[in-house]
Amino acid sequence: MFDKILIANRGEIALRVLRACKEMGIKTVAVHSQIDRDLKHVRLADESVCIGPNPSPKSYLNVPAIIAAMEITDAQAVHPGYGFLAENADFAERVQKSGFTFIGPDPDVIRMMGDKVEAIKAMKKAGVPTVPGSDGPLPDDEEECHKIAKRIGYPIIIKAAAGGGGRGMRVVHTEAALISSIRVTQGEAKAAFGDGTVYMEKFLQNPRHVEVQILSDGQGSAIHLGDRDCSLQRRHQKVLEEAPAPGIPQEVREATYAACVKACIDIKYRGAGTFEFLYEDGRFYFIEMNTRIQVEHPVSEMVTGIDLIKEQIRVCSGLPLSIKQSDIVIKGHSFECRINAEDPKTFMPCPGLVKGFHAPGGLGVRVDSHLYNGYTVPPNYDSMIAKIITYGDTREIALNRMRNALDETIVDGIRTNIPLQQMLVRDEAFRKGGVNIHYLEKKLAE
Ligand code: ADP
Repeated sequence: MFDKILIANRGEIALRVLRACKEMGIKTVAVHSQIDRDLKHVRLADESVCIGPNPSPKSYLNVPAIIAAMEITDAQAVHPGYGFLAENADFAERVQKSGFTFIGPDPDVIRMMGDKVEAIKAMKKAGVPTVPGSDGPLPDDEEECHKIAKRIGYPIIIKAAAGGGGRGMRVVHTEAALISSIRVTQGEAKAAFGDGTVYMEKFLQNPRHVEVQILSDGQGSAIHLGDRDCSLQRRHQKVLEEAPAPGIPQEVREATYAACVKACIDIKYRGAGTFEFLYEDGRFYFIEMNTRIQVEHPVSEMVTGIDLIKEQIRVCSGLPLSIKQSDIVIKGHSFECRINAEDPKTFMPCPGLVKGFHAPGGLGVRVDSHLYNGYTVPPNYDSMIAKIITYGDTREIALNRMRNALDETIVDGIRTNIPLQQMLVRDEAFRKGGVNIHYLEKKLAE
C-alpha cells in the first residue's frame, strides 16, 4: 500500500479522497491554485503545494507542476478525482513514466474509453448492449451516410468520438438536415476536441439515464455495485441522483451487470468505473464508460456499505479486491442532491463569501462538502459546493429525509440551487419514480 498520495483536485472530492487516505493511514499532499490556499482539504492535508495561478490550465491541469509536486513531496501515487485530469490518458502516462502510480486504469484503457467509437466496439465485443448505430466513424461519402441513417431510422444523433461533458452532439430529424448536421458537428468536434471524427446513433426519444458502478482489480476480478438513476439533468448535467434505479426488472439489470463485469475483465480494467446507459422500454443501451470515480458515487456507497475510494486506492496499489460479488447486497435507497452556487432560476454562477453554512444532519443524512463559515467560493471553477446524500430503508423514507435535509440547509451570503432541489423532491412524478432525461428541462420550461 502507498505511504503518501497526492490529490490532484479541489473542493469536495479532494476532501473525500483525503478522508479515505486518512482512514487507510496514508499521508496526503494537497495541491492547489493561488486562490485555493484556504480550501478545507488543503488545511487538513499533511503537506500542500501551490501549483500555479487560478486558471485551471495553469494549475489543476498543469501536468509538469503536478509531477514536480510529486517529486518534491515523495508522493507515490496521484488520485485525480473527477474532472480536470481524471480521464486524461496522456497525464496518466506521464505519471507512470515518471515512476509514480496513477490511481485509475492503464493509460491505454483510458484512451480507448475516451474514444467513444472504440469504446462501443469493445463493449459490443463483451456483449454489453449498445444503441443501434453506425458501428464506427461516419465515412466521407454522403450517400453512405444517408444509407446508414436510413437503416438506423430517424431521428438519429450525430456524436463526436472524442466528445465529453455533453458537448459535440446533434440530433437530426430529417434526411434533408443530415449532411449539414454531420459537417457542423465535425467542425465543432475538431475545434473543441482536436478530432473531427463523428459517429451516428439512433436517438432514443424518452430514455432514462441509468448507470452501473463497477470495481475491478485488473487481475481477473471484477464486481458491480448495482445501478444509479441520473435522469434528472439540465443541459446534460446531472442534478439529482438515486440508487438503485427505480422500477427496473431484476433479470434485466442482472444481465446488464453481468455484461459490464465481463467487459471489465476483458479490457483488464483497474479501479472504479461507471458504465453509462440509456434505458428505454425495458432495455439498456450503453453510451459511454467513465474511467474514474464519479460525483454521484456516494449513493452507491450508501446502499452497499462499500467505500469506493478506499477500494479504488487498494486495487490501484496492486492489491486484489477486498470484496467478492457475494459480499455486495443492495439494501435500502439513497438520493444525492448537488448543491451549486448558482441562481436557482437563471442558473448563473453565484460565487462569493459564504457568511454562514448550516449543514443538515440526523439519521441517514450525509454531507460531502468543503464549505465552512467564511469560505469564499471562487469564480474560477465548477459551481458545485456540496452534495447532500440521504439514505433510508425505502425510497420514500430516503426522499423524505432529503426533503427535510434540504429544508434545514442554510448557505448564507450566496445564492444556491437549493430552491430548485426543494421543488424537485416534492414533485409528484419524481416522487413516483422513473422520470426520463427530458423531465427536468420540460418542467423548467413550464
Ligand atoms: P458525454 O460524454 O458528453 O456526457 P454521452 O454519450 O454520455 O456524452 O451523452 C450525454 C447525454 O446525451 C446522455 O445522458 C443523453 O441525455 C444524451 N444522449 C446521448 N446519446 C443519446 C441517444 N442515442 N439518444 C438519446 N439521447 C442521447
